[in-house]
Amino acid sequence: MADIFCDCCGDFLPEGTLRYTVHVQIMVEGEDLMMTDSADMLADLHLFIKGDDVADACDIQDDEYQELTFTLCPKCRHRFMQDPFNRSAQQLRLQRTADRLFH
Ligand SMILES: [Zn+2]
Repeated sequence: MADIFCDCCGDFLPEGTLRYTVHVQIMVEGEDLMMTDSADMLADLHLFIKGDDVADACDIQDDEYQELTFTLCPKCRHRFMQDPFNRSAQQLRLQRTADRLFH
């Protein structure tokens, strides 16, 4: 089995270590996307193996739908659950900028 590392902090997560998977789906809001069914996926896979252009055969583009998967250690999972978009870091940067401008 390949070594596994936390995708956020880079810590090594040896076999048996508590770790979490974050699966993210990003899709265009309000669009009625036609999801490929398993038969279409098999056809796309067949085209890919043959070397044909799958993008032409696939109805969904990357800017319409993407799935991402990350592995996190317990510490990074906790931080992600508290602040998934790391807004506190952005607010801290804005505060530091404001402090420099007004002192
Ligand atoms: Zn981590």
